[in-house]
Amino acid sequence: QYLLVTIDGPSGAGKGTLSQLLAKALGASLLDSGALYRLVALSSLKRGIAADDVVSLSETARQLDVVFRPEEGTTMLEGEDVTQAIRAETVSMLASQVAALQPVRDALLERQRQFSKGQSLVADGRDMGTTVFPEADVKFFLTASSEARAQRRYKQLLERGEEVDLQQLIADIEDRDLRDRSRAVSPLRPAPDAIEIDSTNLTIPQVLELMLSHASN
Ligand code: C5P
Repeated sequence: QYLLVTIDGPSGAGKGTLSQLLAKALGASLLDSGALYRLVALSSLKRGIAADDVVSLSETARQLDVVFRPEEGTTMLEGEDVTQAIRAETVSMLASQVAALQPVRDALLERQRQFSKGQSLVADGRDMGTTVFPEADVKFFLTASSEARAQRRYKQLLERGEEVDLQQLIADIEDRDLRDRSRAVSPLRPAPDAIEIDSTNLTIPQVLELMLSHASN
């Protein structure tokens, strides 16, 4: 039978890395649901749709012409490779704005559910275990302290040659957490049956091992 695993949690907790590793270890496919919100954001920028034009945004979400190529690790939007483009800071900001609109979330719901049909799946996001896949076999809620998440982001940015202030990063992350947890639409919270893992003092292999021990039961 197919296995359905969800990993939710705040940004910077390591969901992206862990869901990739877990999917590989389990021989499952991967759904990066955040990428869908990023694609809606990018597509609306390309079309010149305003951030408050809910009707056009949800239409964009419904018609999204996207192909994920897991082997190459690329994401194609209308035939164009947008793997890098969807990670840009402007796209991240707009993605979190469009993600707060219920019609946009509704428009992406069925598309996300299709990923679990006929295959094992690891689904990464904010509402995978609560809204999209409430029937999932194993649900994880991955967290880490805001300092640890800011530290990880700081390292990434330094490697890219970007100069940033660590205290500012911590403040930004705490801001975003508050917004994610208190937004009216799909607020970030663990499903009642989620296994919570705090990765603050754990390495990636340690978290993976912990997840595998739950998923192989
Ligand atoms: O995870 P990632 O940073 O790529 O997500 C981009 C944006 O989409 C985030 O701001 C997040 O709030 C939103 N999102 C969401 N629900 C999901 C996945 C992402 O609201 N399942």
